Amino acid sequence: MFVTELVCVKCGRRYEMGQVEYTCEACGDDGILDVLYDYDRVKQVLNGRSLEADGNQSLWRYLPLLPLPDGARLPRLSVGCTPIYEAPTLARELGVGRFFVKDDGRGPTASFKDRASAVGTTRALALGRHEIAAASTGNAATSLAGFAADLGLAAKIFVPAAAPEAKVAQLLIYGAKVFLVQGTYVDAWNLCQQAVAAFGWYNRSCAVNPFLVEGKKTGGLEIAEQMRRELPDVVMVPVGDGCIISGITKGLREMQQLGVIDRVPRVIGVQAEGAAPIAAAFAAGGEALEPVEANTLADSIAVGTPRNWRKAIKGVKSTHGDFVTVSDPEIIEMLPRLARASGVFAEPTGVVAAAGIKRARERGLIAARESVLALATGNGLKDVKGAMRAVTLPEPVAPSLDAVRRSLR
Ligand SMILES: *Cc1c(COP(=O)(O)O)cnc(C)c1O
Ligand SMILES: [Zn+2]
Repeated sequence: MFVTELVCVKCGRRYEMGQVEYTCEACGDDGILDVLYDYDRVKQVLNGRSLEADGNQSLWRYLPLLPLPDGARLPRLSVGCTPIYEAPTLARELGVGRFFVKDDGRGPTASFKDRASAVGTTRALALGRHEIAAASTGNAATSLAGFAADLGLAAKIFVPAAAPEAKVAQLLIYGAKVFLVQGTYVDAWNLCQQAVAAFGWYNRSCAVNPFLVEGKKTGGLEIAEQMRRELPDVVMVPVGDGCIISGITKGLREMQQLGVIDRVPRVIGVQAEGAAPIAAAFAAGGEALEPVEANTLADSIAVGTPRNWRKAIKGVKSTHGDFVTVSDPEIIEMLPRLARASGVFAEPTGVVAAAGIKRARERGLIAARESVLALATGNGLKDVKGAMRAVTLPEPVAPSLDAVRRSLR
């Protein structure tokens, strides 16, 4: 393992690996830790040349940059190395030089969260922990349930009772113990923290467990590696708790440190207008966060009290990026547009990054000739009700050719 220390993003206090379980002792839940590595040593085994020679088509190709003990038992489920597609028509329509989408709705449980769960469950098992809990808007939970099934762990899940049906179905099929919490994601989060403390379960919640963001970081490592010859100027990322964007910015920076890329794209976070406390905090200087009542159809980022806002804002600043917001109608409008232009059918939150490009252009954050990559974080089949808001169900037709002719008119 190449981890050197853990550092608190709030007070800067440093810890040895294993000295604390989740967050900074001095700052409590607010003191989220960042994992530091010995990059000089990592570089000897992980660099542009070693990556080119590595045939492993999963996130384990970045194992030296993950906080896992040597010889840890890895899950069977294959995660990572998701494809990137270019969609020139959408680039033209959005007024940017080039447009790419990375389809992370292709994980084993169909969302970006699989990257975090792969690392989180591997770590839990390596620590000898067999009961693992998470609070989630839906995808983190289904992902944990899938990996728990793979590794033979018991998953305890806290989701808002209003989570989309497909996500709840996934949980139940995987055999997780599911608590459908009467309340918001914040209520589910609070209840999960209490239960973890009371029952001694391993906590997979990304915002307190610093090792989960390391899994999410592989998205940034991959973007850098896959795009190193045509690195985009800007990477757009949907933001709820702020863990994915923290991971993306860190992964991109690490690839620069390892010499795989020579600059870091600007990373722009996109929040839904009805749940945009991190965007607001960033605009106000980034020192404090004002929680809000979350209200958006993009359920995966309906987060009123984000936990990882400091790491997210620091990460975005380190890339000279920014934050924008999009409205629910703009999200709905982008659902079929992205699918028709690129072939990627994403859940509502999965198109938020693409939807943010229009706002970022209007605000002058992206120039007309610049190339942009949008991260599609979840599969469209996760939320069919959300998708149906973007289209109209056709009238049923009689089984006759005449009816088809009439319908074509
Ligand atoms: C969780 C999630 C996000 C947001 O990630 P955060 O780490 O909470 O910012 C975005 N899209 C999808 C599909 C998600 O499941
Ligand atoms: Zn601290």
